[in-house]
Amino acid sequence: MSQTIHCTSCNADSVARGVQDLIDRHTNEHGRFCCARCGGTDTFLDVPRRAGAPRAGETWPRGIVPIDTKTRDSAYAPFVFLLADAPDGEISGIAFKYYRPAPSNGGKAKRGNRAGGGPALTQSQMLALVARLAKIGVVSRADWRAFVHNNDARAS
Ligand SMILES: [Zn+2]
Repeated sequence: MSQTIHCTSCNADSVARGVQDLIDRHTNEHGRFCCARCGGTDTFLDVPRRAGAPRAGETWPRGIVPIDTKTRDSAYAPFVFLLADAPDGEISGIAFKYYRPAPSNGGKAKRGNRAGGGPALTQSQMLALVARLAKIGVVSRADWRAFVHNNDARAS
């Protein structure tokens, strides 16, 4: 399914052929969506929305991070959208998703949902995701250190 990235700087729409294309060709090193015309990241994924003013809890995907690129050839590849609470907002959350990659032999991706619903992550995938989110600045290293430290203090 094609995906459209809207740029608020130059008002251009960039179209990706699907999630794999979004990841491969439409993001920068921080996972942020790039405009195909101006190269900027004043962008968000244009998803269908109800008309009118934004509602509480409404989010705008402004980037995408694959959780484990080794899963490319597997039936289900997990990823997260980087979410902001406004089209020009900072990244303030993530949404877990998965997609079904097209087989590397050039066949078509199968349709359908994974049994049991959303993405299921292994422990190494969880840790890899947290490391990646820290690296691209979605979670600061200081916040992450404080979290681990405070959690250790509570546990003892
Ligand atoms: Zn642009």
